[in-house]
Amino acid sequence: MSLPGQLYRLQQLDLELQRQQDLINGINEQLNKNEGLIEAESELTSRKQRLAEVEKRQKVVEWALEDLQEKTNHLSKKLYGGAIKNPKELVNLEQQAKDLRSKLGSKENDLLELMTQVETMQGEVKASAEELEQLSQEWHQKQENLKQRKSAAESKLAKLSPDRQELAQQISREALQLYEQIRLTKQEPVAKVEQGRCQGCRITLPTSQWQRAKAGDLVQCSSCNRILYLE
Ligand SMILES: [Zn+2]
Repeated sequence: MSLPGQLYRLQQLDLELQRQQDLINGINEQLNKNEGLIEAESELTSRKQRLAEVEKRQKVVEWALEDLQEKTNHLSKKLYGGAIKNPKELVNLEQQAKDLRSKLGSKENDLLELMTQVETMQGEVKASAEELEQLSQEWHQKQENLKQRKSAAESKLAKLSPDRQELAQQISREALQLYEQIRLTKQEPVAKVEQGRCQGCRITLPTSQWQRAKAGDLVQCSSCNRILYLE
């Protein structure tokens, strides 16, 4: 293989190495990107917290109701037990009983409202948990798929690297340095010549120039500086 041919082959290997590396970088980026899942997790947590708060309020109302119920029972026994004969005291007790019934009714309404809220919120927590489950299954599958693609790209890289090294060892230091220097600014430092034109910049080259390149000399395009290569 001529020197320009070797450099062209080196470029092919470098481009393929870069492609595989870009692929791996892109996969790594995707592997770190699971905002949807994190968002669903935090939504479930906050829904659970809101539910717990309302359940706590429900408990407080239930205790207050039990307390009121007990007081009512106690008062009923007094009222209808027959032990109290004093009419004024009885009227007083009747009024107390009436107040208690009204408090009971209002607390019962509070409880009903809270129970309805709890039921709605339990539904929301369930929906959130299901969504999270679905998302984490999808994420798990996606992760598996990404990891497989990543390991395929990594094994390609592992095969290409020694090929590149072996080829580079066959190329003179001077030519390699020129190649690397052009590569700093151009992704493809070697350009093919087709029908007398540099395929890097499309300029028509002097015949003598591409003929030297064809003979295997290290010739650079006078316009774009790329190393010229003819098959
Ligand atoms: Zn050119």
